[in-house]
Amino acid sequence: MKTASTPAHCPYCALQCGMNLSPSPEGGVEVTERADFPVNRGALCGKGRTAPELLSSRVRLTSPLVRSDGVLRPAGWDEALDRVAEGLSRTRAGYGPDAVGVFGGGGLTNEKAYALGKFARVVLGTSQIDYNGRFCMSSAAAAGVKAFGLDRGLPFPLEDVPRTGCVILVGSNLAETMPPALRYLTELRENGGTLIVVDPRRTRTAEQADLHLAPRPGTDLALALGLLHLVVAEGRADETYIRERTSGWEEARAAAMAYWPEYVERITGVSVPQLRETVRLFCEPETAMVLTARGPEQQSKGTDTVGAWINLCLATGRAGRPLSGYGCLTGQGNGQGGREHGQKADQLPGYRRLTDPAARRHVAQVWEVDPDTLPGPGRSAYELLDALGGDIRSLLLMGSNPVVSAPRAAHVEQRLRALDFLAVCDVVLSETAALADVVLPVTQWAEETGTTTSLEGRVLLRRRAITPPPGVRGDLEVLHGLAARLGVEKGFPTDPGEVFDELRRASAGGPADYSGITYRRLAEENGVFWPCPEAADGDATAPSWPAHREPLHGDGDGTVADGARDGVSGGSAPAGGTAADMPVGTAVPDGEGVAFGLLPDDPSGDAGQTAARPPAARPVHPGTPRLFLDRFATEDGRARFAAVSYRNAAEEPDDAYPVLLTTGRVVAQYQSGAQTRRVEELNAAAPGPYVEMHPRLAERLGAADGDAVAVVSRRGRAVAPARISRGIRPDTVFMPFHWPGEGRANTVTNPALDPTSRMPEFKVCAVRLERVGQE
Ligand code: SF4
Repeated sequence: MKTASTPAHCPYCALQCGMNLSPSPEGGVEVTERADFPVNRGALCGKGRTAPELLSSRVRLTSPLVRSDGVLRPAGWDEALDRVAEGLSRTRAGYGPDAVGVFGGGGLTNEKAYALGKFARVVLGTSQIDYNGRFCMSSAAAAGVKAFGLDRGLPFPLEDVPRTGCVILVGSNLAETMPPALRYLTELRENGGTLIVVDPRRTRTAEQADLHLAPRPGTDLALALGLLHLVVAEGRADETYIRERTSGWEEARAAAMAYWPEYVERITGVSVPQLRETVRLFCEPETAMVLTARGPEQQSKGTDTVGAWINLCLATGRAGRPLSGYGCLTGQGNGQGGREHGQKADQLPGYRRLTDPAARRHVAQVWEVDPDTLPGPGRSAYELLDALGGDIRSLLLMGSNPVVSAPRAAHVEQRLRALDFLAVCDVVLSETAALADVVLPVTQWAEETGTTTSLEGRVLLRRRAITPPPGVRGDLEVLHGLAARLGVEKGFPTDPGEVFDELRRASAGGPADYSGITYRRLAEENGVFWPCPEAADGDATAPSWPAHREPLHGDGDGTVADGARDGVSGGSAPAGGTAADMPVGTAVPDGEGVAFGLLPDDPSGDAGQTAARPPAARPVHPGTPRLFLDRFATEDGRARFAAVSYRNAAEEPDDAYPVLLTTGRVVAQYQSGAQTRRVEELNAAAPGPYVEMHPRLAERLGAADGDAVAVVSRRGRAVAPARISRGIRPDTVFMPFHWPGEGRANTVTNPALDPTSRMPEFKVCAVRLERVGQE
C-alpha cells in the first residue's frame, strides 16, 4: 500500500543516510525512520534529523539579489540572470574565456556537477573550473589512481568492515563526522576484530579503539613507513601476493627500510612497542583494512602519505582480497560523484582525463561540439581562488562557501572582493554570497530530484518530496537560463532525468561508468555501485574493464540476488538467480514494499513506478560493490607500490610559532556551517569555535578553560575560548573550522599544496598562542 512518505537521503555527509520524508502536521515535511536503507538502518545524526528545518527557514533566500549602489536588493529572475550573463560576457570579451572562473561543490548532485562542468567548457569556454572537493579527498583520489588505476573511495561496501580482522583508521573521527557509521566499528569489535585509531587527539572515535596511536600532526607518512619497515623486518610481507599482483615492490621496500622504529618514534612520538603491536594486530588476522580520512590526506604530502598506507596494504596482501584492503572515507555528501563528472579542473565526465584525446573525442561527441574547442586543464581550487582579481576577473560559484572553508581564508576573502563580477548560487546568504554582485536562490535537496554517489561508490537517487517555495529555481534551471543568454540554446535541460541520461552516455566506457544505471534501478535497488556499464545484448556484465560480481553478505553464490535477499541492494530477485535473471519490473510489486510518494510534477518521470512493468528486454549489469578482486584497474592489472620518503610539513614549529595547529569538525556542524549554523538545535549544540589544548600547554599560557585565546600564524589570527583536554598532545592545539568571523580557523591554516593532488595542508601549520588582552 502506498504511503505518503518519500524515501530520501540526507543532504549532508558522504554516508548519505537513508530517511523518509513525511508530511509534517505543521506543514512541510519531517524526517521519519527509513529502516530499509542498509547503510544506516534508520539511524541518523542530529544534522540529518533536523535537515528539513532549513527548507522552511525564514533565513532562506526566496528572491534573487542584485547589487546596486553597493547594496544587495531583491530582483526578478530575468534581471538577475541578465546581470550574470552580462558580467560573465563582459569579462570574456575583455580578457578572454580563461578570465572567467567557475567554482563548484561536493554537495552538488551528479547532474549538477556534470552540467556545471559542461557549462564551463562549452558555454564559457574556460579551463578555470574546480570545486571544493579538492579540499577534501583529492590526495586519496590521486594515491588511489596511482596505486590501483582507479579512485573509488571505498572499493568495498561498508558492510565488509565489521567482518574483517583488523581496521587501522587513520585521521578519521567517525563518531563526530558520521555517527551512524560508528556501528560498523562497534560491530567489528563485537565480532572479535581489532580497531586501531591513528589521531593526534583522543577523539570519541579513538576512545573506542583497542589501540590509539597519537602521532605528531603531519607525521603519518613516517608512521606508515615505519610499519612497513617492521612488516619486512619481521618477515610478515606476503611475497606470493606481491609477486603475483603488484609492481614496484623493491623500490618501495628499499625506501621503507630507512625508517627504523626508533627513528620513526622520534619523528612521530609513537613508541616502538606501539609500532610493533600495530604490526602484530594488523598482520595476524586473515583479513585487515586501512581506512583513511582527512587527517593524512590534508597535508602537503597527502598523496605520498596515503600511498604509504596503501603500500602497507599491498605488502601484506590485503588490497583486492575479500574483506580486506584500503579505502578512503569521503567527506562531502557527493564528494565521490562530484569528482567523477567534470567539475574538477583536470577531468571530464566518467572520471576521464581531460588530457586524453580519446576521452575528449568521446565527451565532445556526446556534447555535440568539436573536441578541439574543449579547453585543457585549469587551476586547482586554491590556485583558482588565489588568482581571483588577477588573471580571473569574474566567478560563478555554486554550492560552496570558501570565505569560511578555504585555507588562508582572509586572503581568499580579499581575492573575492577584488573580482570585477561575482555570482553565487546558494540557499542562504552565506559569507561568500554576501560578497556577490548577484545571488541566485536555489532549490534544496528535498525539493529536487537528482543522484549522489556515496562514500561506498553507491549511486543513490534523491527524490523530490516537496514543492520549492516560489522565487527559487533549481541550479539546472540557472544553467539553462544562463546558457540561453550566452547564445547556447541546446544542451542544458532543466529535467534532471534528461541530464542523467546524457551523463550516462558521457560516462560510458570511462572508469566511472554509469551507463547501466537508471533512475528506475536506483529506486528499486537502493542504489547501484559503479562501475555499471550498460550490458550488451546477451551479456549480463559487459564491463569496460574487469569488474567483480561479488555478493553483498549473501550465502556466497556470487549473485546480486544474495544482496537482494538480505535487503542490502534491494529488489526481490529469485533466490539463486543473478541480476541478469531479474526482470527489472519484478523488484517492487504494486502495493508492496517501497512507496515512492513522488509529487505528480516530479521531473524524474518516475512517479508511479511501483506499478508492475513488463520484463526488461535486455539483461542488466549488477553494479560492482567490490573492486579489484581479480585484477586492479591498471594497464597490467597489478597494483603499484609507491616509493615514498618522509618529509616535513610545509611549516614546522620554530621559536616564533612553537605550537602545531590541526583542524576538524564537530558533530553538530557541517563544513562551512552555512546550513547547519542556521538550524536552531544544531547551533545551540555547537554555537562557536574553541581552541582545544592540553593542560600543560594551557598552564604555560596561563589560560583557564573558557579564556579567550588567539591562535596566530603567519597568515592571521583566530580567537576562541580555550577548551582544556588531556586528550590532545601537549605540542598541538585543535580548532573546528565551521565558523566565520574572529573565530575562523581557516584564517590561520596553510594553503601549501600537495604537488600531485593540489590539496592544501589544512591539517598542520605552526602557530603561537596568546591570551587575549594579555599579548
Ligand atoms: Fe547520516 Fe551524515 Fe546525514 Fe548525519 S550528516 S544523518 S551521518 S548522512
